[in-house]
Amino acid sequence: MERSEQLRGRLRQLNIHIEQVCAQSDRDPRDLTVVVVTKTWPASDIRRLADLGVVDVGENKAQELASKAAECEGLNLRWHFIGQLQTNKAAIVARAADCVHSVDRARLVTALAKSAVDRPPERPLDCLIQVSLDTDQDSGSDCGPDPSHRGGIAAAGCDDLASLIAAQPSLRLRGVMGVAPVGADAFLAFTRLKQLSDHVVSTYPDATWMSAGMSGDLDDAIRAGATHLRVGSAILGDRPYLR
Ligand SMILES: *Cc1c(COP(=O)(O)O)cnc(C)c1O
Repeated sequence: MERSEQLRGRLRQLNIHIEQVCAQSDRDPRDLTVVVVTKTWPASDIRRLADLGVVDVGENKAQELASKAAECEGLNLRWHFIGQLQTNKAAIVARAADCVHSVDRARLVTALAKSAVDRPPERPLDCLIQVSLDTDQDSGSDCGPDPSHRGGIAAAGCDDLASLIAAQPSLRLRGVMGVAPVGADAFLAFTRLKQLSDHVVSTYPDATWMSAGMSGDLDDAIRAGATHLRVGSAILGDRPYLR
């Protein structure tokens, strides 16, 4: 089957599915944005998606986002950075992305803010605070990097990071993001994220975004109150093994 037709079919199926889950959980599908995660897939797929009406695309590597954004120059796309971000790559992302979902420490905020001053004033860099949804915040902390650790600040640190982001004129605090821990009950994890989201909104009324849910757990995310779903393989297929 032709690739565009395959993508069209999967997008249609996904939208039907999202509408069904919304109907069962008293959500309005218009309150949900699908960010199509295009990491590892070529810019030609992103062009096909744009032709099919997709606007929001997600990447998890700074350089990959920057090159694809350059290749797709002129298309009506919003670029979301969803991966772990090293401070020394913040400038690449602050230039090329529209939104960063994975802001999880103060040094990253200052690095992004510094580079984002070059952006047009009407387009501040949208930022989401990535919150760790692990229940055991200490897991893996003194045994080196834990491969299952998906990043994110502990919930207790969220207020300080929110006020730091809100104080930067080149950044715009948009809300929170989370990844369900492997093996955990995703609905419970996302419900904790929703409580934190409500707390952030009580201080920053415009920070209403909740980025949660991937191909495998998007139903739980919708039920818990997500506004942004990050969906890759359900639309593009299984990623090529090599990056
Ligand atoms: C890759 C990725 C996704 C998309 O995952 P799929 O299972 O392919 O839908 C979502 N969020 C993050 C943070 C990712 O890295």
